[in-house]
Amino acid sequence: MDRDVLVREVGLRDGLQAVDTFFPTEAKKAWIDSEAAAGVHEIQACSFVPRSTFEQFSDASEIVAHATNHQGLLVSVFTPNVKGAERAIAAGAHRLGHVTSASESHNQNNLRRSVGDSMDDFERIVALRNELSDPETTSISGCVATAFGCTIEGAVDPDAVVRLASRYVELGADELVLADTVGYGNPDQVKKLFVRTGAEVGDIPIAAHFHDTRGLGLANVCGALDAGVRAFDASLGGLGGCPFAPGATGNIVTEDLVFMLEAMGLRTGIDLDALVAVRDILEREMPDEPLHGAIAAARVPKGFAVAN
Ligand code: ZN
Repeated sequence: MDRDVLVREVGLRDGLQAVDTFFPTEAKKAWIDSEAAAGVHEIQACSFVPRSTFEQFSDASEIVAHATNHQGLLVSVFTPNVKGAERAIAAGAHRLGHVTSASESHNQNNLRRSVGDSMDDFERIVALRNELSDPETTSISGCVATAFGCTIEGAVDPDAVVRLASRYVELGADELVLADTVGYGNPDQVKKLFVRTGAEVGDIPIAAHFHDTRGLGLANVCGALDAGVRAFDASLGGLGGCPFAPGATGNIVTEDLVFMLEAMGLRTGIDLDALVAVRDILEREMPDEPLHGAIAAARVPKGFAVAN
């Protein structure tokens, strides 16, 4: 494998989820096609939420059907409940993402159910997957949201995070994600929590999901790298923003993440110039949506060489 770190594009899900205007289906397909061509190995393509509540994802099945035409592209999706998981499996998604917040009030606020109810849902999703598919064809990812802090409760107890992560693994998760949903984490905290969670849950891949709300996104990637994490979610142009902080950045910027990893000697398998060029699609379709990113603005430094 010519890759040391997996960079998972989540802009089409986490980014577009925060955009009110419908992003045209054909443009979503072009975004996926261009990132796949740039060497992105995994794309979280959409969310299987009720069509009535999220018009942005009303074309989810069509998007997955299109994305799975790319040989070698891992197509992951977001499935908050059993109904969504059923539609996602039928559409042919390769990875189902489920999320539960480590803080009870955030889970209530975000998903309108208790942490316990969310885990019951997850158990049903695993059972459904086992009935309709298998872990090789359709893997399931359990994401612990607000793992590094919560806009409602403030500090989040690391014990609660580790407990939830362990529960996900007990119930059959194939991958774990620890998410700094609201951009509260710092590199020291990130390193410690990933080390601790890894020690607790044993041999299961753990990915990191950072938001750059307070400017520490890439610093937190370094904290996670120190803890041995080798999979990161990121969003093209840092699309997404934060509902509590108008103008703030969203997920860490995919282009800047790829630049940093390659500069550090870690191969991503992604062509940086080709990736930066994909921003044109977003700028064309959403001229009013702010895009972030240092590499798109300043370009790579003179003499920059990709990892090999
Ligand atoms: Zn997020």
